[in-house]
Amino acid sequence: MKTILKEILESNGQYVSDFGSNADLPAPPRKQLAILTCMDARLDPFGYAGLTVGDAHVIRNAGGRATDDAIRSLVISHKLLGTREWFVVHHTECGMETFTNDIMAELLNSSLHQADLTPQGWRDSGEGPGSSEAQFINWHTISNQEESVVADVRRIREHPLVSPTVSIHGFIFDVKTGKLIEVPEASRIGQPTAERQNS
Ligand code: ZN
Repeated sequence: MKTILKEILESNGQYVSDFGSNADLPAPPRKQLAILTCMDARLDPFGYAGLTVGDAHVIRNAGGRATDDAIRSLVISHKLLGTREWFVVHHTECGMETFTNDIMAELLNSSLHQADLTPQGWRDSGEGPGSSEAQFINWHTISNQEESVVADVRRIREHPLVSPTVSIHGFIFDVKTGKLIEVPEASRIGQPTAERQNS
């Protein structure tokens, strides 16, 4: 059986031979677009948004949440690389809906090994040692997708380092159909509050 490392390096060899004009791409995204979305392996932002390499920044974390670090990337994306439209895309069946800060703290306190999702919720083997560090982290879990999209768009819109000229849109990606479903309240909040001075 091939190891994943070998598989990746073989694929990269092929990729290098097909790289061609990608070598000439400029760093600023061609569509002046940034997408903040979840790391979920079922989500393909370039596919669901019809993008190609060089078109957009894609910033990913667990949940697609507007954490300080996501905002750091978004601010760089606009200030230094010229993006003007930002999409916050959460999704149905997100793993971030399956636990809370307390559950994560409890799981990691008992074991660092992989836990299993059962019909009764997350369970782990309890094979220690665990760590009490997890209680100090905000895991940014989600209890309602629409509310989390609205909260994140609002946080970005109101952030003091975010230009009022950037447009922010809020969506939920449906993992069963591939459809992007707009969250109107989020997009309303995300409207620019000032006009661009130069284009
Ligand atoms: Zn997710």
